[in-house]
Parts: sequence; C-alpha cells; structure tokens
Amino acid sequence: MNTLAGKVAIVTGGGSGIGRATALLFAREGAKVVVADIDADGAAATAAEIGADGLAVPADVSDPADCERVVKSAVDGFGRLDVLFNNAGIIRRTTVLDLDAGEWDRVMAVNVRSVFLMCKYAIPAMTEGGSIVNTGSGWGLKGGGNAISYCASKAAVVNMTRALAIDHARDGIRVNSVNPGDTDTPMLREEARQLREDWAAFAADAADRPMGRAGSPEEIAQAVLFLASDASSYVTGSALVVDGGGLA
Ligand code: NAD
Repeated sequence: MNTLAGKVAIVTGGGSGIGRATALLFAREGAKVVVADIDADGAAATAAEIGADGLAVPADVSDPADCERVVKSAVDGFGRLDVLFNNAGIIRRTTVLDLDAGEWDRVMAVNVRSVFLMCKYAIPAMTEGGSIVNTGSGWGLKGGGNAISYCASKAAVVNMTRALAIDHARDGIRVNSVNPGDTDTPMLREEARQLREDWAAFAADAADRPMGRAGSPEEIAQAVLFLASDASSYVTGSALVVDGGGLA
C-alpha cells in the first residue's frame, strides 16, 4: 500500500476510465496526484474521491500553456514531481476516406503532441529522477480497422517513448508505454455504440479477446503502477502489452 509513498504524480485524462482508475490506485499507494483533464467535472470528481492528496487541474493537454500549468500545479501544490502518466486520448472510428484534415490534426494533437508537451515541461521538474508512462495501444503495435488516425498516433507514442527513454536514461528518468487492449471504459462503450454492436457481443469477440472479455481500467492501472514505481527500476523504453492475449 505504499509503493509510491512520498511521490507526486500527474495523471492526464484522470477524469475517466483508465486515468481515473490509475489516479485512485496511485493515491492508495501513497502518492499525491494531480488529476488533469479537459473535462473539469471529471477531474474534480476523481480528485474529490482521493481527498486531500488529490488536486484537479482542468487542462487541454494539446495546449502548451495548459501543459506548463499542469506541471507548475504539481510542483507548487505538492513540492515535487516524480511520476507522469500521459494517458489522455481520443479516437475517431473512420477510414482515411471519411476523415477530414482537422480531425486528423486533433487526434494527433491530443494523442501525440500532448506527450511531447507534457514531457517538455515535466522532465526539468523531475529533479530527483522519475518515471513517465505513456498510454499507447495494441493498435500502436499492429494495425486496426476504421481507426487510421488513432493507429498512426499510438504508433508514434510507442516510438516516442523509446526515444525519450534513451535521451533521459542518464537523468534517472525511465520512460515506458503501457499498451492496453480493449478496456471497459466510456471510450470503448462509445465505440461499440458507434459500430452499432451489442456490448456483450463486442466484449466477447473471440478474434481480439482470447480471454473472452474486455479488460477493466483497474487491470491497466496495476501495470501502470508497476512502471511508475521502483519495482520496475531497470525497465525503460519498453512497450508493456496488457490485452488479455489480444496481440498474441
Ligand atoms: P476515456 O474516454 O474514458 O478517458 C479519456 C479521458 O481523457 C477523458 O476523461 C477525457 O475527458 C480526457 N481527455 C480527452 N481529451 C483531452 C484533452 N485534450 N486534454 C485533457 N484530457 C483529455 O478513455 P479511456 O479508455 O480511459 O482511454 C485512456 C487512454 O487509453 C487513451 O489514450 C486511449 O487511447 C487509451 N486506450 C484505451 C483503450 C480502451 O479500450 N479503452 C485501449 C487502448 C488504449
């Protein structure tokens, strides 16, 4: 219950799904947590659940000034920064034919530019070393149908993670990606709805889900905790897959 005792963490997209579950787990493990989300109500709800060790910061992680403000909030509010979970993300379920340039740019901005920006401001604040975890996806490691911009963005996240890990290893900063398969969050429920698929059938799809179910946000959070904590002290530049065997 104290793997992150004394640590300060930022979780982006902490108002929902995987980010929310991870923020709550980090807090249970002793961390103080900045919950950043474009959804101010979601961020506030997660921070309220954490209590005095939680701080909600409404922010658009594609915006440089917002990212700088999120990092400043952690250092000003809690005195240091040790862990950054770059998790906020969006998906558009279209082929290249139905996607306009503005939608392409938005997916890239929220999923990729955000990792660049948050790292740019967070790394100098990690004065005693730290751990950065970026949320990729199984679709960053293989292709997926009807999600052209998302697949491109998540492949970028996986390889940015490797480049960041090399550049900052000597600063005592480890950088890894966690790559979920289908996980039961509001994002995935909305995808099933857009694809007009019954949730139970969707979640049990045999081809993608050998275990016959989607993962839970808490199951992803446990993997993020491993990468965030000293338990993974010799792990950097890795792409940890948490997908119930989907990629296999
Ligand atoms: P979710 O929609 O439940 O949560 C995403 C959160 O990110 C939301 O609270 C949303 O408000 C926030 N957000 C969106 N745009 C933002 C922005 N510009 N600035 C700040 N916050 C923003 O989705 P989730 O399923 O928990 O997804 C979390 C991450 O996991 C995403 O990067 C997603 O691509 C990835 N992922 C999800 C699945 C899955 O099956 N759910 C699978 C693989 C990867």
